Amino acid sequence: MARKVLVLGEVRDGSLRNVSFEAVAAGKTASEGGEVVGVLIGDSVSALANEMIHYGADRVVTVEDEKLKQYTPDGYSQALMAVIDSERPEGLIFGHTALGKDLAPKIAAKLESGLISDVTSLEEAGGNLVFTRPIYSGKAFEKKIVTDGLLFATIRPNNIAPLEKDESRTGDVASVAAEIKDLRTIIKEVVRKASEGVDLSEAKVIIAGGRGVKSEEGFEPLKELASLLNGAVGASRGACDADYCDYSLQIGQTGKVVTPDLYIACGISGAIQHLAGMSNSKVIVAINKDPEANIFKVADYGIVGDLFEVVPLLTEEFKKL
Ligand code: FAD
Repeated sequence: MARKVLVLGEVRDGSLRNVSFEAVAAGKTASEGGEVVGVLIGDSVSALANEMIHYGADRVVTVEDEKLKQYTPDGYSQALMAVIDSERPEGLIFGHTALGKDLAPKIAAKLESGLISDVTSLEEAGGNLVFTRPIYSGKAFEKKIVTDGLLFATIRPNNIAPLEKDESRTGDVASVAAEIKDLRTIIKEVVRKASEGVDLSEAKVIIAGGRGVKSEEGFEPLKELASLLNGAVGASRGACDADYCDYSLQIGQTGKVVTPDLYIACGISGAIQHLAGMSNSKVIVAINKDPEANIFKVADYGIVGDLFEVVPLLTEEFKKL
């Protein structure tokens, strides 16, 4: 059934996050030959509309207001509800990001709709659109279909490939007026933590350290390798709890969920809660001195050895390429 699907683009620091383009690709599948309408919300976002069209949106609607400069649940839901009222979509796709996880249930409740969250793939099978999502911390997957009402899903970043960018694609860009009022939270200032290099949740290469790294300084060889491969440094909760690094680096069930092309786990045992955040990475390399470590069960390549010897050797070899 061809349907109109609204896809929320996510803007950070004046640029669209990759998950926006992945959501457009999911929206294309969900539209089943219907229309994909990108939605951009912010204080000044219309300049980004064409990029959504280049990645496959048929057209884009924007809601611009200085009160929307920063995400707030009230502001964004008022903006989005104005778009939904004017567009009357049959489908909605958001990224399963901090923003999407906060906003989607609120919108679903307002629309009295169901919501399929954290979708890792979406395909047509047997005349149905089938949504796949992990359950039990990634130990199993469930498949869902929508039998009635709005088709509303959030998609896990780095799982659904964006469509090829085509700069010759064109489409309408229109603005929708929304009254943004009675905000219960106002963000006065955003103080960013100094971050080194690539954003962990969007990195294609992640070098992650666990308790085996043994100290804050122990992360230095991992940082060197990450910077050489234009990647990011991540960590297990064991390393964060031991104060070797900041909790913003934690990967896993209670940390970030990542799916890079290459994940190198250094001195990480592979507890189920850690695997929940990284086991969908495309290629997993594990370095651990314990040959029985659980991490080897999910690794494509395992190196049994001392990470303080292996990581510098890898760095030297990559430098030669
Ligand atoms: P360890 O289990 O201590 O493993 C260290 C590993 O390093 C060992 O395998 C050892 O052989 C190896 N090693 C030591 N020295 C070297 C060396 N020189 N060279 C090579 N290898 C070496 N954990 C997460 O990671 N993310 C989460 O989000 C998360 N959420 C949790 C939520 C709940 C509710 C609970 C209960 C736990 C959660 N945990 C999480 C914790 C999880 O259960 C583990 O305790 C944690 O992942 C262990 O971290 P680790 O692998 O770094 O440490």
